[in-house]
Amino acid sequence: MSEKRRTDHRDEDVKHLFELLNNNSDWVWEVDAQGRYTWSSDVVTELLGVPPEEVIGKTPFDFMPPGEAERVAGAFGAIVMEKRAFSGLVNRNQRADGTIVVLETSGIPLFDDNGELCGYRGIDRNISTLGERVLQLETIYETTPVALCMIDRQGRLVMSNKAMAKLLGERAPHGAEIHFQSLMPEYWHFFRTDFELADGGETLPSRELGWFDRCYDIQSVPVRDAMDNVIGLSVTWVDITERRHAEQKLASANKVLQQYAQHDHLTGLFNRRYMDECLVAEITRAMQDDFPLSVCLADIDYFKNYNDTHGHQAGDDCLRIVAKTLTSSRLRSGDNVSRYGGEEFLIILPGTDLVQALGVAEVVRSNINALALPHHASPTGYLTISIGVATLHGKQISIEDKPLHMIASGLIHLADTALYAAKKQGRNQVVSARDAYTVP
Ligand code: GH3
Ligand code: MG
Ligand code: MG
Repeated sequence: MSEKRRTDHRDEDVKHLFELLNNNSDWVWEVDAQGRYTWSSDVVTELLGVPPEEVIGKTPFDFMPPGEAERVAGAFGAIVMEKRAFSGLVNRNQRADGTIVVLETSGIPLFDDNGELCGYRGIDRNISTLGERVLQLETIYETTPVALCMIDRQGRLVMSNKAMAKLLGERAPHGAEIHFQSLMPEYWHFFRTDFELADGGETLPSRELGWFDRCYDIQSVPVRDAMDNVIGLSVTWVDITERRHAEQKLASANKVLQQYAQHDHLTGLFNRRYMDECLVAEITRAMQDDFPLSVCLADIDYFKNYNDTHGHQAGDDCLRIVAKTLTSSRLRSGDNVSRYGGEEFLIILPGTDLVQALGVAEVVRSNINALALPHHASPTGYLTISIGVATLHGKQISIEDKPLHMIASGLIHLADTALYAAKKQGRNQVVSARDAYTVP
């Protein structure tokens, strides 16, 4: 090959090389031992908004906003000290028009013939889009009102946002290394279990924990490295203290409402609605377990006259006294007493046959007599009650025969018929339904 052709070839290669350097998304540069640019590809014009000749003699820090230069100088100083290559050094730069561009810098050291460091050669890549996205996500993480943190496998707090710092307060001083084993010894096992579950590829459950005077709903999500190993837990802490307080208030309000719904306000006894439900439940049990069930329907004698003579207020007082006497006359705790109507009371006696129930009714009647409450408009001169008693034998009826509520009303009707007979026969007495209740 002739000398001219060889020269032509070299010129072609150099031209090609420059085209490669200048028509590229990466900015190629060289700096001297003092960090001053000694060579720059044309791409700098696109990245920093200045031509290559204006870059020469300046250092990378001349293009960084205040604060950023100090930060990067710290990191770069350590690299130069060790005379080593570096990559992925993210830094913010200010373009000629004032806008910010985020660059990722990588470089290799250059040495002279004596082995002394004489500079660096490297490239800068524009990662503004990604960088801005990272900055935005960081801002969201930092400012979200939900407390967020990351815990490593040793239990160290490696990342946290503002809300988390507020949650931890003085118990985790800023800047100090924080270990969850010592910070929350009673809950460390939660996180340990979460690591084990995450290692096994299982879903992590949400947990509720109380810490000092607050209550939190926490949820961990595994954080994995490039090899898919779980290296930490990203934990969300939702403060549910107010919700729990509201739930407690609601529960006690419900309890009060239930009390109102089930009780008679004048006497404090169960009311008719509740008693009807009870009766159905007791009939079911009696049928299942095959035991007798009795009811006593008690009614105050000449109560209209009592009101007329002693006044309505005295009538109310009288109802309360009778209620108290019925309650204290009960033989077993399973027996339910209710105010079934105006001056009518129903006693349910589970597991009690007719003879036993008549005994109970008699005790009740004589206890009322024993009060010797004056009743000027009654032939006896004092307050008396009449009681009708009816009994059902679980074995004798079958649920297929009749719906439960009809069996219940049939039993009450039987007791009412007996009560009517007691009234007819002169009051102040106990009368039983002639036969035990069977499905008619
Ligand atoms: P009997 O001996 O036949 O049972 O006669 P009685 O007067 O007791 O029966 P009646 O059904 O005629 O009257 C019941 C009375 O009970 C009428 C009503 O004024 C009274 N009463 C019902 N509820 C209340 C109440 O809450 N307070 C008061 N003070 N009286 C009530
Ligand atoms: Mg009456
Ligand atoms: Mg009545």
